[in-house]
Amino acid sequence: AVPPFNTLAVDCVAGPEALVLTRVPGLPDAAFAHDGTMTKREVRALTLARLMPMPGALLWDIGCGSGSVAVEWMRAAPRSCAIGIEARADRRALAAQNALSLGTPGLHLVAGQAPEALQGLEAPDAVFIGGGLSEETFAVAWGALLPGGRLVANAVTLQSEALLTGLQARHGGDLVRISVERAVPIGNRSGWRPAMPVTQWSLTK
Ligand code: SAH
Repeated sequence: AVPPFNTLAVDCVAGPEALVLTRVPGLPDAAFAHDGTMTKREVRALTLARLMPMPGALLWDIGCGSGSVAVEWMRAAPRSCAIGIEARADRRALAAQNALSLGTPGLHLVAGQAPEALQGLEAPDAVFIGGGLSEETFAVAWGALLPGGRLVANAVTLQSEALLTGLQARHGGDLVRISVERAVPIGNRSGWRPAMPVTQWSLTK
């Protein structure tokens, strides 16, 4: 009998410890080179679900850091592309490394600060604001977004969360708070370690 998909073949050839990477967003954090500020697996998966990757679509990943969202966007749909805007050179280097190792060498990286660095970029089908959130950055991104495009912004600090609640009051869209807890060892037992909650705003143009 032929097994469903090729999981059996992969297990036989590579063993259970092999790194088998799906195109469905939510890759393990360990699949990326990062410095700890990366968007973690569960939040990344929910962020990509809201961004809705489509064949041939362009993403702006503002404050792209290690590029995890842009790379998963490009992996998820054929011919899709992404522009990562990141102020820090060390993080752009991580993003370039992840793009190469995870099969999306076409990731385009822009050095600089949003909103200035957004000027002149090709109009996107989706925008993720993972860093550099401000009224001005939102206004420029929203103005450039194509009709039917999706915008998603994640906030961790109270100040950026306040910005998002103000924006949602004026523009609508969904506000969601994501709390994730991971089981970690406590002596020879285990307990839940909560990550900082992420407030996520998303809307469609
Ligand atoms: N999604 C990223 C998370 C990066 S954390 C990842 O998975 O790695 C937010 C990033 O935004 C930081 O790297 C920070 O340098 C960058 N940033 C903050 N303000 C910015 C701005 N105004 N323009 C561009 N990048 C900015």
